Amino acid sequence: MRVQSVAVDGPSGAGKSTMAKRLAEQLGFLYVDTGAIYRTVGLYVQRQGVDCGDAAQVTALLPQIHIELRHEADGLQHMYLEGEDVTQEIRQPLISRCASQVSAIPAVRAFLMETQRALARQHNVIMDGRDIGTVVLPQADVKIFLTAAPEERARRRYAELLERGVSTDYDTVLRDLRDRDEQDTARSAAPLRQAEDAVLVDTTGRSLEESFAWLLREIEERLGT
Ligand code: C5P
Repeated sequence: MRVQSVAVDGPSGAGKSTMAKRLAEQLGFLYVDTGAIYRTVGLYVQRQGVDCGDAAQVTALLPQIHIELRHEADGLQHMYLEGEDVTQEIRQPLISRCASQVSAIPAVRAFLMETQRALARQHNVIMDGRDIGTVVLPQADVKIFLTAAPEERARRRYAELLERGVSTDYDTVLRDLRDRDEQDTARSAAPLRQAEDAVLVDTTGRSLEESFAWLLREIEERLGT
């Protein structure tokens, strides 16, 4: 059977993971969160006491990183760093910033490419990230570019962090998000951009349910299911 793939790209806080997770469940596809893989590299770099923006030092660490991605019984993707489950720890704002920095290093992107492509060869996948439709899976069956206004994305992210018990404030979240938007779109290695053949879905002012229904309709139509 030919496997199918759905690429979901967009800026931070656009709701990609929430949506992609639910869509994967609905379609019976495997959900792959590629941001979590970059975050795990970021965590490793932090733990080694290396500056996340130092391309030479970060690149030198790559051969010794042991990262594993496992889809567990709870249906979720867990990230393991040297055998330790770091799924929760990689969500810290400090790691978000570091992930954004290390992901701008071409050697890091090249290092993680095959892991991502192999998953899409073996399973029907919904993969979310920044460059899935443009670089990782340019032949994806469906490409979605999911976005929303920065203030709305920051509001959602802030609520999510509070719920998780992370102490922060809205202005910091908005500033971090704008910084990451800037980093992700301005970098020369696989910058965040909408693929020419991607469907643009802007969820500003729409409820989660509305956005989900819109996405599901678009995807099912294109997959021919
Ligand atoms: O999606 P998430 O916010 O968890 O990703 C963390 C960081 O990893 C992003 O800010 C982005 O810089 C980077 N990333 C990337 N390419 C991907 C996924 C994430 O550059 N495919």
